[in-house]
Amino acid sequence: MASAAVAFRILTEPALAKAQWREKPFPAGAVVIDANENPLGPCEAARKAVIDIVAQGGRYSDWMLRDLTVAFAQSQGLKPAYVRVYPGSSEPLHFAVLAFTSKAKSYVTADPGYEAGMWAAKGVGARVVNVPLAKTYAHDLPAMLAAAPDAGLFYVCTPNNPTGTLTPHSEIEMLVEKKPKGSIVLVDEAYIHFSDATTAIDLVKADKDVVVLRTFSKIYGMAGLRCGVAIARPDLLEKLNLFAGYCPMPITALAAATAALKEPRLCGDRKLINATIRQHTFDWLGSNGYSYVPSTSNCFMVDTKRPAKEVIDALAARNIFIGRIWPVWPTYARITVGTQDEMQAFQSAFHDVMTNAKKVSFAAPLRRPSATIDGGWPAVSS
Ligand code: PLP
Repeated sequence: MASAAVAFRILTEPALAKAQWREKPFPAGAVVIDANENPLGPCEAARKAVIDIVAQGGRYSDWMLRDLTVAFAQSQGLKPAYVRVYPGSSEPLHFAVLAFTSKAKSYVTADPGYEAGMWAAKGVGARVVNVPLAKTYAHDLPAMLAAAPDAGLFYVCTPNNPTGTLTPHSEIEMLVEKKPKGSIVLVDEAYIHFSDATTAIDLVKADKDVVVLRTFSKIYGMAGLRCGVAIARPDLLEKLNLFAGYCPMPITALAAATAALKEPRLCGDRKLINATIRQHTFDWLGSNGYSYVPSTSNCFMVDTKRPAKEVIDALAARNIFIGRIWPVWPTYARITVGTQDEMQAFQSAFHDVMTNAKKVSFAAPLRRPSATIDGGWPAVSS
């Protein structure tokens, strides 16, 4: 455990999304569709709850933790002992990697997939097994199973970040039944509310070796408030807890998340807004001859037909900040679904960049190219 701590750091979407930490806000008028944030922010009830509680921010928040734990458990038909609240889902993701992977137990993930767990696994010296997505863009779970008889943890992100594509519940069940003894399946449902995916929480209720992650950062629009949830058998949560210790929650996050959970229409309304804007964007891309991966989430991959970095930089020069590249798909970039106005600004700048590609100079990127430090960890400082 001590040696793991030496190289370990928690990576979050902004650390991965932004090529360098920003010391200043984005330029005025910037369209920021790079980190799968929700432009709607917290709902009205959550904002009010934050304001009402802030005066009590001088105290640690443990007395409020129980309310959110119970409210979340009730919303999913779970016993509270199967729920643990964290300041974001990045924490339990990393703690699961610490608890279940090691030099002898590999970390198995899809490619392209959300990379935070992979970097954590490298930090603990675990073998990282990257398995390409299937042709349907689902995780290729039979291939992931076959590739890692030494698996400690299978990471399944559905909808997947960055593609927004789903992995069928039936295949996750198959993985859970056939996986090596002692390993766990970590199902990251950060984006599930945007899609029609079936949750894997039923597998937790059936006491399988499954940990499900949820976050308030996406559909709830609370990325800056920090609240996430791990859902698992109490003995599995206890293993994560060895690393969490006493990890106090921001009092504002607890109040906001508890209030947001009581809003019955929030997820449905926001799902519809996102799906409508996403579909308009897809219609525009399709009618202009651009290819994209058919996402059911708040992000998607677009084919730039050239090194995607060139397009990212050219858009940044036009004050449009899109997401990153996955090395396995170097001519694709990830786009977050923003507001309709933001997507229209993206469309016109993207069209301009794509049609004038030969005339545009890509020589002077606004942002530094992303670098690696510490023998392969993504740089998070300028
Ligand atoms: N999992 C996935 C797939 C994500 O994309 C993110 C963030 O974007 C996270 C987990 C972590 O989110 P947070 O720590 O904000 O809950």
